[in-house]
Amino acid sequence: MESQRSPLLEVKGNIELKRPLVKAHSRLPLPGRSFKRGRDQMEDVLEPEKKRTRGLGTASKFAASQPRAPVRTTGPQTQGQTAAPKLPKKTGLRCSTAVATVLKNQKPGPAAPAQKPGTAAPLKLEGKKPNKRPAWDLKGQLCDLNAELKCCREKTRTLDQENQQLRDQLREAQQQAMDLGAERRTLEGELSRVRAQAEQGQQELGNLSAHVLDLEERLSTQESLVEALQKEQLGLQEERRGLVTRLEEQERRLQASEAALSGSQAEVASLHKESAAQVALLAERGERLHWLEMERRRLHNQLQELKGNIRVFCRVRPVLPGEPTPPPGFLLFPSGPGGPSDPSTHLSLFRSDERRGTLSGVPAAPTRYDFSFDRVFPPGSGQDEVFEEIAMLVQSALDGYPVCIFAYGQTGSGKTFTMEGGPGGDPQVEGLIPRALRHLFSVAQELSSQGWTYTFVASYVEIYNETVRDLLATGTRKGQGGDCEIRRVGPGSEELTVTNARYVPVCCEKEVEALLHLARQNRAVARTAQNERSSRSHSVFQLQISGEHSGRGLQCGAPLNLVDLAGSERLDPGLALGPGERERLRETQAINSSLSTLGLVIMALSNKESHVPYRNSKLTYLLQNSLGGSAKMLMFVNISPLEENASESLNSLRFASKVNQCVIGTAQANRK
Ligand code: ADP
Ligand code: MG
Repeated sequence: MESQRSPLLEVKGNIELKRPLVKAHSRLPLPGRSFKRGRDQMEDVLEPEKKRTRGLGTASKFAASQPRAPVRTTGPQTQGQTAAPKLPKKTGLRCSTAVATVLKNQKPGPAAPAQKPGTAAPLKLEGKKPNKRPAWDLKGQLCDLNAELKCCREKTRTLDQENQQLRDQLREAQQQAMDLGAERRTLEGELSRVRAQAEQGQQELGNLSAHVLDLEERLSTQESLVEALQKEQLGLQEERRGLVTRLEEQERRLQASEAALSGSQAEVASLHKESAAQVALLAERGERLHWLEMERRRLHNQLQELKGNIRVFCRVRPVLPGEPTPPPGFLLFPSGPGGPSDPSTHLSLFRSDERRGTLSGVPAAPTRYDFSFDRVFPPGSGQDEVFEEIAMLVQSALDGYPVCIFAYGQTGSGKTFTMEGGPGGDPQVEGLIPRALRHLFSVAQELSSQGWTYTFVASYVEIYNETVRDLLATGTRKGQGGDCEIRRVGPGSEELTVTNARYVPVCCEKEVEALLHLARQNRAVARTAQNERSSRSHSVFQLQISGEHSGRGLQCGAPLNLVDLAGSERLDPGLALGPGERERLRETQAINSSLSTLGLVIMALSNKESHVPYRNSKLTYLLQNSLGGSAKMLMFVNISPLEENASESLNSLRFASKVNQCVIGTAQANRK
């Protein structure tokens, strides 16, 4: 920076350099001074020159400081001065020019007039009084004038020289002024540039100040942020210490866990070995279990056959409220050989024959009729007790043996109660159908652990006057009948199906309950059309059971039939046959026909006759696949406890006894 010299300093230096030029000595006269004649006069004339030189020096100084300013005279201007504009405007010069002009215009006269005050003032040389020549001394005067002229000429020459010098100085000064002007312009340019730079600097300074303020603000923000971060850092350090402690704790635990894990791994390895052995054992046991299950089925079937493929249970309902109490001893239930703890299998009915008593005149002793069945349930027997006896038989259906359970008896003897249950939905009075299905679902569930999968499909139809009606019909078909037919599933198939009847897959009790409820509704609708039709028709609940063991490729399937037969009572032959009775007679004949056909079929099967008259009734035709062969059959004979029903009870018991004497299938031990 020092190498670059400031323009201002440069200007100052120039000025100082040029000052000596201006200070050159001048011999120009000072304004307002009069010339003196003679040597003294010349000396006097020269005297002001010194002063002028000083004055010029002052003027030069002024000119140096203000080079372009015009030079102003302080004294009054003369005509001579205005007439010589090209001369340098110096006061002294103007004075000498005035003197020359005066001298030039002065005419010499022979007699100089008395000098008027004021006119000869410029030529009057004061201080040195010349010898005044008398007016007549023209020669002397001329001599004086010549001397004065000579002096003036000398002075003029001097002044010319001086003028020339001044002109040179003036040119020089002008040149200097021009130079200075140029320099001034340069300097002004430089000054404006410097000013611009200064302004720019100022602006930059302003910007920088704003920036500094901004930075200061940011700094304070950063400082507060740093402070917050420091606080946070402290918190984090604290947290880190806590975490380090926890980590150490976790590491300790991990080490302990690893130790435990390695122990466990060893244990797992040994358990794996053990488990492999268990798996092998399990497979062996599974095999054994399966063999046992098949053996159980075989033995179960053998047991059922030993019990008899046709079994008959007798059930006597209790006396209902409002019914006459039967005479004591009307029905007896003798104990078995094992005493009272033995389940009852015998029933004795006592009936007094009024006609015999009348003939002899003495009331005859009541006749005793003894019956023996596979089991006899006296009036107090509960639904659960009854079901317990048939549970094993129902399970045969799961093992693949067709099962048929009938309820036979006169109307009001308790068939529907035994099959479906009592009114009100009380679980205690639940019938065989819901109990049997619940039992099947439960056993199927147990068998699933052995690889067996079971499916159940239910249907419920009614056979009235040899017409079949769907009891599970819904919608517009509800309560309608007669449009169902029994058909074979296919041309070569033995399997039968009821056309237009619903076959509903079931897998839980609720679904079965819903179906029984629907069947009751359908019967109620029909009852309004035909009085008490339900007791005049057979209700057949069929459950198609299909089992599969996919692992062993085994399949089994059999139907379970639960049949609530129509009332077995006969029509009183003594009754007058009105239009209603004729209809009733037709119904009864149809019922009797189908019931006797059932008996005949059972007989034919028992006697292994070549022809079994299945086709003689819709009921036997529908059930043909569940009767005979390996099928299991159970007949409940329901008996009214009332004496007034003794005749019908006897008929039922006789029919059941005949059935009970039948033996179907391979087991021979059931002969009675
Ligand atoms: P059915 O179907 O043979 O015509 P029901 O089953 O309708 O006879 O029975 C007739 C009446 O006797 C019904 O009110 C029924 O509740 C009642 N009943 C039948 N058996 C029993 C029994 N074991 N315990 C109690 N009430 C019974
Ligand atoms: Mg009934």
